[in-house]
Amino acid sequence: MREFTYSRAEDQAAAIGAMSNGARAIAGGTNLLDLMKIQVEVPQALVDISRVAGLDKVEPQDGGVRIGALVTNADLAADPKIRALYPVLSRAILAGASGQIRNKATTGGNLLQRTRCPYFYDTSMACNKREAGTGCSAQGGVGRMLAIFGTSEDCMAAHPSDMAVAMRVLEAQIEVTGEDGARLVAMDEFYTLPGDRPDVETVLKPGEMITAVVLPAPVKGSVQAYRKVRDRASYAFALVSVAAVITLENGKIAQASLAFGGVGVRPWKNATVDGMLVGQEPSDALFAKVAEALCRDANPHPETEFKLPLLKRSLMAVLREAAGLAPASAGTDKTRTAA
Ligand SMILES: Cc1cc2nc3c(=O)[nH]c(=O)nc-3n(C[C@H](O)[C@H](O)[C@H](O)COP(=O)(O)OP(=O)(O)OC[C@H]3O[C@@H](n4cnc5c(N)ncnc54)[C@H](O)[C@@H]3O)c2cc1C
Ligand code: SF4
Repeated sequence: MREFTYSRAEDQAAAIGAMSNGARAIAGGTNLLDLMKIQVEVPQALVDISRVAGLDKVEPQDGGVRIGALVTNADLAADPKIRALYPVLSRAILAGASGQIRNKATTGGNLLQRTRCPYFYDTSMACNKREAGTGCSAQGGVGRMLAIFGTSEDCMAAHPSDMAVAMRVLEAQIEVTGEDGARLVAMDEFYTLPGDRPDVETVLKPGEMITAVVLPAPVKGSVQAYRKVRDRASYAFALVSVAAVITLENGKIAQASLAFGGVGVRPWKNATVDGMLVGQEPSDALFAKVAEALCRDANPHPETEFKLPLLKRSLMAVLREAAGLAPASAGTDKTRTAA
């Protein structure tokens, strides 16, 4: 490990001051420390933000909730407001990592965790995300965890976070704070596409930290579901995941929001596909058409072609369950929000 300085911030101003001077924030450390140990990340200065006051609460705000950046994944998943009103978020978090990791991992850190592309972790291999302009070893290489949506010639690494997929389906906003104050960034705009700069992953400016995530009021009476397909039943990242918030009225779909994990360079959403569901009666024919439309934009690597049928089948299963055409099966957690 390379040498670095360490300081601890007790408040937001101190954290932002240190970050503006080039220090990297460390919260739970469950991703950053792993990367430092293998020198994928080599920060010269760390600022420990884990004791910054006031960022560890889930509070009601404007009919929705405000989740502090330091709320742990375990506390967020167990929070009674989240379980009752945003069950898709609770389910997605519990589908990720392990109990021990969720006890340390934080909301801000989870959103900013790095990809699991195997070449990103191997410092002997070229990787544009680790070091801009060096090349992409995944082109022509191996990698069944890679993305199929939003990829570029320079990077096709999938975003790894389960929580971020649920936050995207819930149309969350990220509160970021810097020396000039706080601003809200819609989840849809927070993560950038890789293009020719895969090392730039978000719209965060130097010195800005995530201070909270704001969820809008939940859609009343919606069914929320999260299905994650992975190599093991637990403790594994998603090959494909589907998050859904669906509302039925008088036998028709009145509202639909879908988001996907394991397949996109960022938590993936396709507004056209959501729109295809609205106003329609649920049916297998409709769901098959929606799954086909979703996959039309895919650009699979030879090793990720298997994700297309897996994604189609996962989406159809989630939609059938959410619409009441099939009983909930193993693998999907489905909950109706309080009406
Ligand atoms: C074995 C294992 C299995 C896992 N499985 C899954 C899984 O299935 N699904 C899943 O979603 N995740 C999984 N994870 C990832 C885990 O969820 C993340 O490591 C964790 O959420 C990161 O949070 P942290 O607080 O520890 O972040 P840290 O490691 O402290 O930080 C991560 C990054 O975020 C930055 N950062 C942290 N907080 C802030 C902030 N407030 N503002 C600005 N920058 C900040 C840091 O500088 C760093 O770059 C797994 C991890 C491990 C080790
Ligand atoms: S896919 Fe992205 S993260 Fe993986 S080797 Fe290529 S540039 Fe690096």
